[in-house]
Amino acid sequence: MIAEKPSFESIFMNLASDLALRSHCVKAQVGAVLTKDTRIISIGYNGPPAGTHNCDEEWPETGCPRDARGSCSLALHAEENAILYAAKNGADLQGSTLYVTLSPCLPCARLIFSSGITNVIYKSSYAEYKGLASDEGVDFLRRFGVECSKLGT
Ligand SMILES: [Zn+2]
Ligand SMILES: [Zn+2]
Repeated sequence: MIAEKPSFESIFMNLASDLALRSHCVKAQVGAVLTKDTRIISIGYNGPPAGTHNCDEEWPETGCPRDARGSCSLALHAEENAILYAAKNGADLQGSTLYVTLSPCLPCARLIFSSGITNVIYKSSYAEYKGLASDEGVDFLRRFGVECSKLGT
């Protein structure tokens, strides 16, 4: 019997999940992988810009300062880090696919749309986790033609 080959979807999402573990953030750890035609363009995980803060080392007890939504006020999100790295290196994101372990927030959704990403696959829903009616980031992306799906659904 021939063993079943893992799909690219599961390979990329497993990588995003591993990357999330590298995050220094105390509260949420999120990873992202940016791909095109089954190749990886960029990766990212949430955290303050390189060379600024390491939340877990500086505030091991309390965690870092929070913003209004209760997220780290210093961190770039995983999606932002992945997109910024790609942009810095002149990669063309038009038509690319983003794998992310948590559904994108609205500011990230705006960035995802503007950078030309046409497909977003996420592992967990932020709204489900928070008990909210819907994912505002996903709603925004769908409204403007970006395909979004939760892995395995
Ligand atoms: Zn933090
Ligand atoms: Zn975000």
